[in-house]
Amino acid sequence: MLEIRFFGASESIGKSCVMISDYDRQVILDAGIQLHPRRTGLLSTGPSHVDDYASETTAVILSHAHVDHSAYIPALYRAGYNGLTHLTYPTKDLVNILWKDHLKIEGSNHFNYSNLKTAMRKMKQHDYSKKFKIDNGVTCELLDASHILGSACILLDWEGTRILYSGDFNNAKTPFHDPIVFPDPEEPIDILLIETTNANRKINSRKEMTSQLTKSLLKCYSRGGKAIIPSFALGRSQEIQSYLSSDFDSFLRKFPVYIDGMILEMNSVYNKYLDEKWVSPRVLLDLKEKGFRSPFEHEGIRSIDEVPTSGGRMKKREMLSNQENSSIILTTSGMLEGGPVYDYLRLNGSDQKNGLYIVGYQVLGTIGSDVISGQTDLVLIDHLGKPFRVNLSLEVQQFEFSGHSSLEGLIQMVRYTSASKVFAMHGEPESQEKFSSSITNIETDINILSSHEILPQYP
Ligand SMILES: [Zn+2]
Ligand SMILES: [Zn+2]
Repeated sequence: MLEIRFFGASESIGKSCVMISDYDRQVILDAGIQLHPRRTGLLSTGPSHVDDYASETTAVILSHAHVDHSAYIPALYRAGYNGLTHLTYPTKDLVNILWKDHLKIEGSNHFNYSNLKTAMRKMKQHDYSKKFKIDNGVTCELLDASHILGSACILLDWEGTRILYSGDFNNAKTPFHDPIVFPDPEEPIDILLIETTNANRKINSRKEMTSQLTKSLLKCYSRGGKAIIPSFALGRSQEIQSYLSSDFDSFLRKFPVYIDGMILEMNSVYNKYLDEKWVSPRVLLDLKEKGFRSPFEHEGIRSIDEVPTSGGRMKKREMLSNQENSSIILTTSGMLEGGPVYDYLRLNGSDQKNGLYIVGYQVLGTIGSDVISGQTDLVLIDHLGKPFRVNLSLEVQQFEFSGHSSLEGLIQMVRYTSASKVFAMHGEPESQEKFSSSITNIETDINILSSHEILPQYP
């Protein structure tokens, strides 16, 4: 008798957290937080009610580092959990950066520094596709999900019942990862828990999107402007750096790229895991051919710290913004909810030569979504926490890169796994509806659940 219990992300995106249990043990898959647009003044929220189960939990398994999946894990230790957190090797390094940043932003909203240290100490790292024991009769394997560095789908064998939790996965080729390899249809899955982020969204091909981005950057260059690219520190930023450096000979020689913010720390984790186990062999081959040590150590790509002026980063941002020459500035945050991008908007936002090129989906209510919908008069916060007003005149464009599977990929996942029971999660209600109506010709039982709902006596 198995029970599946959703504490979050069953009908939305954010605070992913699922518990699978039977009479003797309970295993938590992911424990993330939900961020709220800055203007609401709300701190992030954690999965509801999971604390009540923390002290009785047998194991925690983490799919990947993004905070909507990981950042509540230290809070489980605060709530009395004392077991291991299983995760891939790179994920440990990535969460260490993200959780510390979370503490800086929110203080001890969910956990304190000592809970973070405990969580780091209790981690058990794994390679992809290596089976490990969770408990008597329960084994686990982490399968490459191709979403970000270290991301995994979680495959559980629970006394013979095979459960696949997709986490976030991608069926498209990206600079660092090959498309996901779907599970072997010869070994069917009994229960599939699947993300549905993009079920209701058209995904443009990366080729098309990068060529549009290149065109816009070149236009900005010909105007003599600065091109600001706000980006998520983990995943998207490394992808954009890779596109930019592959175009190095065409224009990067004249149009240097400066990297600012947490992206620099994430780059160093990517550098640590430049191995076929974790990135596509294409990346390693390319480095070998070019004689480079790292995809980010490139003549045309520089850290903000290389701007030649004494003083801190603020001084360097000013100097970079005042330079006559064009440059590309890749910085955080991806949805304009904070970070060094505010300094760059203050310094460059009112000059129409410049451009703001947004490279991801923008959640409604964020400053990024306001800007996309044409709002130009913004009140932002400077690095000292003081509000300031800026009137944007620079060019604004959006390029919707996505790290999630297309609807076709989701359907393929259901087909390959031959799952008899499918739970849709990690998607807005319209996405989940679209997903379930798209797989009606496959013989399976689809469930769309609301948070904290128990499924008794399964299977
Ligand atoms: Zn993710
Ligand atoms: Zn996610």
